[in-house]
Amino acid sequence: MTTPALRDQFGRSIEYLRISVTDRCNFRCVYCMPLEGLDWLPKAEILSYEEITAVVAQLAPLGLRRLRITGGEPTIRPDLERLVAMLKAVPGVEDIALSTNGVRLPAMARTLVAAGLDRVNISIDSLRPDRIRQIARRDLKFDPLASLTSAIDAGLDPVKFNMVVMRGINDDEIGDFARLGLDHALHVRFIELMPVGEMAGLTFEHIVPSAEVLERAAAAVGALEPAAGPARGNGPARYYRVPGAAGTIGVITPMSHTYCDTCNRVRLTADGRLRTCLYGDHEVNLRDPLRAGEPLGPLFERALAAKPREHHLLQLKVGGLKALSQVGG
Ligand code: SAM
Ligand code: SF4
Repeated sequence: MTTPALRDQFGRSIEYLRISVTDRCNFRCVYCMPLEGLDWLPKAEILSYEEITAVVAQLAPLGLRRLRITGGEPTIRPDLERLVAMLKAVPGVEDIALSTNGVRLPAMARTLVAAGLDRVNISIDSLRPDRIRQIARRDLKFDPLASLTSAIDAGLDPVKFNMVVMRGINDDEIGDFARLGLDHALHVRFIELMPVGEMAGLTFEHIVPSAEVLERAAAAVGALEPAAGPARGNGPARYYRVPGAAGTIGVITPMSHTYCDTCNRVRLTADGRLRTCLYGDHEVNLRDPLRAGEPLGPLFERALAAKPREHHLLQLKVGGLKALSQVGG
């Protein structure tokens, strides 16, 4: 029988843990990471795969059953498949997802699936190589469509393709992204830009509200009707479909609508802090108690009892975050 998930102080069931395995990245996306000035975590402070697995093994009996591996860029941490296999073997873990920029996916997708990875979100903000270089600020040769195909061919399901829409930078590709969902069985999701950290000159003016995105997507592919979205791994996105299309179009709207009332997640940073709200400043250090051999269950219960009702991103309160790469989005 499945263990009922713990509830927080507002009655929300918390069954989903996002695990950041590194604060580093092979990209420097304009909205995510400053080009310089982030202090990397020393290796000794980063949880080993054994320690991450030990945290999950202690929290799974409290109802955590869905995991997402994120970063920074998780695929740059060596032997990621070893962690996937270790997590998959924890009793109670039902589902493991990965968030990645996709650069290394063609080389890794099959190995990760063999280790137990279930699904993937690929974050790509353009289909044009020159523009990817401009947004990611790194000159890595890679083909976003090859990344996408490798994920589908390896059997990852669902495959979600996430684009952060920025006015005047990549919003002219809304139609091209929407068309991907016509022929491929994937979920194209448009994310509203969130103002966190330095943002390389991006301002509120660069945010494209999801209502406008949907209008522009429909202008490219035809009328959209509400859809159920993927059977597994439904998060805060709202989904739509062109009748008869293979995939769906989704929008994630942290700016125009919050979805805090149905929040089911907490986050573990690479150095072992449990963060109960993406933009809250309430964190609990799990690493030191874990290394001291203390039980984590009571700490987890206390952390959930203090999970805030909602974030205050619109008031630009981000709980000390300098970049989303520090907590994995
Ligand atoms: N490197 C991986 C990736 O890019 O998917 C995982 C970490 S990344 C921080 C997770 C997600 O956060 C990505 O989809 C990224 O586009 C999104 N993200 C980062 N900063 C953002 C911002 N300021 N506004 C909206 N989305 C952001
Ligand atoms: Fe790296 Fe992902 Fe942040 Fe881009 S969004 S800089 S790929 S962590």
